Amino acid sequence: MKGKKGKQNKTATSANAKDVEVKALFLGPKSENRDYFKNTLNFLMDEHMHWRRDFHPEDAEIASVQEMRRGNYQETLHRTYEVLSQLSAKLKATSMPWFSARYLGHMNSDTLMVANLAYMAAMLYNPNNVAYEASTATTPMEIEVGKDLATMLGFDPKDSWGHITTDGTIANYEGLWMARNLKSFPLAVKKVKPSLVKGMTDWQLLNMPTQKALDLIEKVKKAGCFDAVRSETVRGTGVGEGKLGVVLVPQSKHYSWVKAADVLGIGNRNFVEVQVDGRFRMDMGVLKRTIDDHVAKKIPIIAVVGVVGTTEEGAIDRIAEIARLRDEYQKKGVSFYFHVDAAYGGYSRALFLDEKSRFMEYGALKRRLFSDKVFVGNHSYPSKEIYESYKAIPAADSITIDPHKMGYIPYAAGGIAIKDRRILDLISYFAAYVFESGKS
Ligand SMILES: *Cc1c(COP(=O)(O)O)cnc(C)c1O
Repeated sequence: MKGKKGKQNKTATSANAKDVEVKALFLGPKSENRDYFKNTLNFLMDEHMHWRRDFHPEDAEIASVQEMRRGNYQETLHRTYEVLSQLSAKLKATSMPWFSARYLGHMNSDTLMVANLAYMAAMLYNPNNVAYEASTATTPMEIEVGKDLATMLGFDPKDSWGHITTDGTIANYEGLWMARNLKSFPLAVKKVKPSLVKGMTDWQLLNMPTQKALDLIEKVKKAGCFDAVRSETVRGTGVGEGKLGVVLVPQSKHYSWVKAADVLGIGNRNFVEVQVDGRFRMDMGVLKRTIDDHVAKKIPIIAVVGVVGTTEEGAIDRIAEIARLRDEYQKKGVSFYFHVDAAYGGYSRALFLDEKSRFMEYGALKRRLFSDKVFVGNHSYPSKEIYESYKAIPAADSITIDPHKMGYIPYAAGGIAIKDRRILDLISYFAAYVFESGKS
């Protein structure tokens, strides 16, 4: 983010991307930046404590100096200290050294100094982003972050929506939740207001393309029966014995998808794993055959999930080809929701963008990555295929992305970006317009 371009209410920074020294961003494997870290932490703590002190200065302090000297008071402080030193001893004895270049056993790495400091500073204010009144400072930041994530992933900021989740698991739940509720929406319209879907068979209704189904939401709202229809969707009726169809995921999927299928009542039986190829990417031939087999049996496909950065292998599914397949099937009257699980690899899309968040042309990108020394040495990364996959990410209806992975943010910070925010009406229990009224 560039300070001079940012609007006033945006979190401003003065540094240009090119001026950033990576070594100054982390505490460092030897705590090289410890003085800076401690001083800044002290400053942030002082800020908070002054804030408390100056809030209605006329109010009395609750503890007098005399009281603070008493045995029980001192004893209580001492016990707190003991608990904290035990915690620290345990943390040091058994934690994994993510910060060390010796550690390669898990996808975690060091976390950004600014994120750690910001986390500790914000914690003292205990914001609750569930309601604006409880998070007047942090809710606007979450909206800004949601927009940034959606833009980085290629969605149009005007129509899209993004927010922070506790982790990628919850983001995946939300993706499948939307897919499931959307699948049941056209059938619910038929039940409540058949004139809006006149002449369509159940099979056609179960294969309505995402955008058409979202347009239908607007028509139903105009007809004044949205609440009645919504209560006839799966959120009101519950999932009935696989009627809505199956979910297709690559074998390499994260295990949160198995849980999502269970929690959302899809059922493991309707959760179909598609074989991967020798490079751990979903085999496109098998995917096509699997779709054909289900269509032949008149079983709808609720969603197809592609993974960008599989947890174990870091493999990138052929997102462009999945998107092409979806368009092809759509022409044949078969539609499914498309979710990309980019929990692990989503942040890498930033490498493909110029300063204006435009996806760079392949040749220019490669020159840029080497001239900026993002890559050094003699190799041909990224391949054209990976390039095409990253380019096609915005073809998805929604995307999972984890700041606590390649965003170098401490746990817990997952995220989801949604292409068309109209879908929120099918899952939200607070009116979506609460957030829209700010026109942010
Ligand atoms: C890590 C990961 C998730 C979600 O994991 P959380 O620990 O819940 O954030 C989902 N999908 C993929 C591919 C992942 O790598």
